[in-house]
Amino acid sequence: MSDIDSLPPLREVIATHDLRAEKKLGQNFLLDLNITDKIAAAAGDLSHATVFEIGPGPGGLTRSLLKAGAAKVIAVEYDKRAVDALQGLVEAASGRLEVIHGDALDIDLLALLIPPTQGNHVLVANLPYNIATPLLIGWLKQIRKNPESYQTMVLMFQREVAERLVAVPGTKAYGRLSIITQWLCTAKRQFNLPPGAFTPPPKVSSSVVRFTPKTLPDNAPSFDAIGRLTAAAFGQRRKMLRSSLKDYADIMEKTDIDPTLRAENLSVDDFVRLADH
Ligand code: SAM
Repeated sequence: MSDIDSLPPLREVIATHDLRAEKKLGQNFLLDLNITDKIAAAAGDLSHATVFEIGPGPGGLTRSLLKAGAAKVIAVEYDKRAVDALQGLVEAASGRLEVIHGDALDIDLLALLIPPTQGNHVLVANLPYNIATPLLIGWLKQIRKNPESYQTMVLMFQREVAERLVAVPGTKAYGRLSIITQWLCTAKRQFNLPPGAFTPPPKVSSSVVRFTPKTLPDNAPSFDAIGRLTAAAFGQRRKMLRSSLKDYADIMEKTDIDPTLRAENLSVDDFVRLADH
């Protein structure tokens, strides 16, 4: 048995540190280590990876990442009670786990690597749902600047958000988030979890999505250019492009994009071609 296996069960850690779930911190804990093992496994071989985890809470997923052989885990947690509750795991991990008390929205994770290390950077998290989208957008911006920022991201979202991330053209879920995500990454849903998998159960189902950053050509559009274009196109989702994208009339003609289509009919590549000019 590893030192990690000899730690008290998560329910005991929660009780000892009075880690009652706070709704405003999006605290829906995973206490079944079979599930957290499955999330860690979705990230692939971690033996050369620095894994960033957002919101370790009582540390179920953190245990799984360490047991899966992660070279290093850097976990950022906002709740001081959880930071304290994780100290036993920090000791058991013998130098492989660092817990940082802070707000993930304010922290540049890659700047925590001092000096910049070789090896893979992987992000794995059961995200607090109230800030999951802004966190993802921040990481996607980093990936646009450097596709090697993260080799893989394995992230839990509420199911409805996960559906938008992987949506295909012509569907209701297809929109800005789908385009920005799929422009920069290959995004695949791994599995769904019902509310009852969490303690306490959230109101909605959840899904784990795995992202693999793509290498873009040197002349790829900027993040802001795609952001502006998709905002204009989906701001008036039901309108034809000739009305929602008036400023892009010439480009639509040059790129042979039919102005009588609606935003949801264009592929990710179509948006990239439009933003490219
Ligand atoms: N990883 C744990 C698990 O799977 O059981 C907890 C996941 S829970 C859905 C989200 C975690 O994110 C909580 O521990 C919460 O305290 C933490 N959190 C919430 N807001 C945060 C923020 N702004 N920065 C860092 N952590 C945050």
